[in-house]
Amino acid sequence: MNVAKQLHQLQEIDLELESTEQALKQISSQLGESQPVVSTRAKLESEQQHLDDLKRQQHSAEWEIDDLTVKITTAEEKLYGGKMTNPKELADLQHDVDSLKARRNQLEDKTLEIMDQVELATASVAKVSSKFEALETEWHSQQQKLSAEMEQLKNKLSDLKQKRQPLSAEIDPQTLELYDDLKKQKGTAVAKIEQGICRGCSISLPISELQQARSGNPVRCSSCRRILFLA
Ligand SMILES: [Zn+2]
Repeated sequence: MNVAKQLHQLQEIDLELESTEQALKQISSQLGESQPVVSTRAKLESEQQHLDDLKRQQHSAEWEIDDLTVKITTAEEKLYGGKMTNPKELADLQHDVDSLKARRNQLEDKTLEIMDQVELATASVAKVSSKFEALETEWHSQQQKLSAEMEQLKNKLSDLKQKRQPLSAEIDPQTLELYDDLKKQKGTAVAKIEQGICRGCSISLPISELQQARSGNPVRCSSCRRILFLA
């Protein structure tokens, strides 16, 4: 195999290596937490906390109502039990019962308000929760797909490197150095000749260069300086 052909093969492998590495980089950037999942999880947590707060308020109001009911019952038993006769004491006790009942009414109204809020908050938690689950499921399957793609690309990368190694070993170091320099400068080091034209820079090549290329000698385009390859 002539050197130009070897270099052209090397270039094909290198181009594929580059695009594979690019694809890998792109996939790595997509792996990891997703913004919608993170923000929906945070929203769910804060909605759940709000609901828990409301339920705590409701329970504490209910306990207080129970407590007041016990106090009212005890006071009314005393009031109507017939053992108390002092009018002043009876009037004071009646006043206590009235204010306990007023406090209980107030708490009952408050409890009803809280229960309405609990209902709204429960619905909201359910809504955000199902949205979160859907997002998370989608994210999981996407991540699995990306991981599988990544695995494939890594395998491809190692295959390409294995193919490149023996090929580059056949080419003399000086030519390889020239190839690397041209690649750095121009992106590609080898240009195909098609219909007498250098595909690297699109100029028509002089007959002498075409003849040299045809004979298999490594020749460079006089215009773009790439190594010419005649397929
Ligand atoms: Zn050229």
